[in-house]
Amino acid sequence: MLFMNMVTFSVRTLLFSVLALLATHVLAAPKQPNILFIFSDDHAYQAISAYQHSIKLVQTPNLDRIAKEGMIFHRAMVPNSICGPSRATVMTGKYNHLNGFYNNSNSRFDGAQQTFPRLLKAAGYQTAIVGKWHLTGAEPSSLGFDYWEILPGQGVYYNPPMNRMGQQVKHTGYTTDIITDLSLEWLKRRDKSKPFLMMAQHKAPHREWSPNLKNLGWNKDQKFAEPPTLFDNYTGRGRAEYEQDMSLEKTFTKLDAKLTVPGSLNEEQRKTWNAYYEPRNAELEKASLTGKELVRWRYQRYMHDYLACILSVDESVGRLLKFLDDEGLAKDTIVVYSSDQGFYLGEHGWFDKRWFYEESLRTPLLARWPGVTKPGSVNRDIVSNLDFASTFLEAAGQPIPGDIQGRSLLPILRGQTPADWRKSFYYHYYEFPGAHSVRKHYAVITDRYKLVHFYEPDVNYWELFDRVKDPQEMRSFSEDPAYAKTRAELHTELTRLRKELKVPDQDAPESIIRPNAPKGEPGAKKKKKSDAK
Ligand code: CA
Repeated sequence: MLFMNMVTFSVRTLLFSVLALLATHVLAAPKQPNILFIFSDDHAYQAISAYQHSIKLVQTPNLDRIAKEGMIFHRAMVPNSICGPSRATVMTGKYNHLNGFYNNSNSRFDGAQQTFPRLLKAAGYQTAIVGKWHLTGAEPSSLGFDYWEILPGQGVYYNPPMNRMGQQVKHTGYTTDIITDLSLEWLKRRDKSKPFLMMAQHKAPHREWSPNLKNLGWNKDQKFAEPPTLFDNYTGRGRAEYEQDMSLEKTFTKLDAKLTVPGSLNEEQRKTWNAYYEPRNAELEKASLTGKELVRWRYQRYMHDYLACILSVDESVGRLLKFLDDEGLAKDTIVVYSSDQGFYLGEHGWFDKRWFYEESLRTPLLARWPGVTKPGSVNRDIVSNLDFASTFLEAAGQPIPGDIQGRSLLPILRGQTPADWRKSFYYHYYEFPGAHSVRKHYAVITDRYKLVHFYEPDVNYWELFDRVKDPQEMRSFSEDPAYAKTRAELHTELTRLRKELKVPDQDAPESIIRPNAPKGEPGAKKKKKSDAK
């Protein structure tokens, strides 16, 4: 009897031990982190105080907090500096010649292709997107989003109509605040048994950079410092730079300058708007400015409005971070802040994006992952929004499909850049003819140099930039004999990259814009005017 008891006891002990071991193992398995992806449209890194740009334009304490508690990336690049194509790259981890979305003019996104939200959904995540979408041709549900509420086309800054899961809804208020409110509402009512992917995507600070009315006059009429290249005359570069249509001098419209009132304001909002702008606009009229003085005035007005939009984006980031704190979610959540590309804040005399030049090639990138990324980390590797899909999949414990071109940033977030990390980057812009008349070009970018090819028959030339000798990128060295060896090396690297990335020798027919093609034919413009920017 005693013997039998001892056997029972031993079996029981063994069983308990096995169960305990199993439980430990399950507990020790890596938990799938939540992913909060906060994305803005046209946010210049120069307009984030954590980037410590030489010109201090604005304070962004909440964005800076992500950098302070995580990592700031100083060389995050986009493969094609324009809205829709950049978003297609985020979703697929691929260049536009593989995801098929080349430009905002006639491209349509094939929602049936592989996207990281659909892979995360299959891996047990609940997925949501709120705000700017701009992947014309596809609905978020086809990409794997359980919940979505998006702006149609570019959306508007005040009282925005939105599309909630196929239903038209109308909101009252400022769009950045509304996107934040809707993101928080979904986060609060989410299924807490699953990890989440929330993509909170702002319209701001996209053209025409219209502020929250409460922020009008935020700078108390103090002057903003001008960038040193505000009056760039493009000497030493080629025809594309001379012929662009995105300068404060030639392109800035009355709507950009707030000399006309946006149609989306209601009666009461219009009064607040007019109380700020009307007296200042009257002063401008009285001054009858021309030439450089008018450009200077426009720059000041542009900065007041654009940076006021940034204040609201920063406030949104603060509210989302506070939610994670309040719910005890911060330690289990990867927070990524980025934009679909950078933007010119008067550099080279420009607003807008599109070029290989630093201000639009680069995009802000801040990431926080407690316990993984050391607070206050600074990274200068060449990373890209191509890498987001792989990063999120690896973080979720999922395999990274072989056809994804970006690499996971996880080793970098852990502070260990792999020895074979990319040392060069391929860039390709396609949207010509199109808004702002920036010519098609491709480029190879390294830590120091850029070799650029404008390759259309009528505008065909090379440029070579040396960011060490010429940090403002004001002069091409492509024909300088002293750079012959560098140019040849860069050319070899460009050829290697194009092959590795499967860039076709000739641009694909669907990437070509034919403004006169009949509607519905390849190359013809899309129907909606609101999608064309
Ligand atoms: Ca954009």
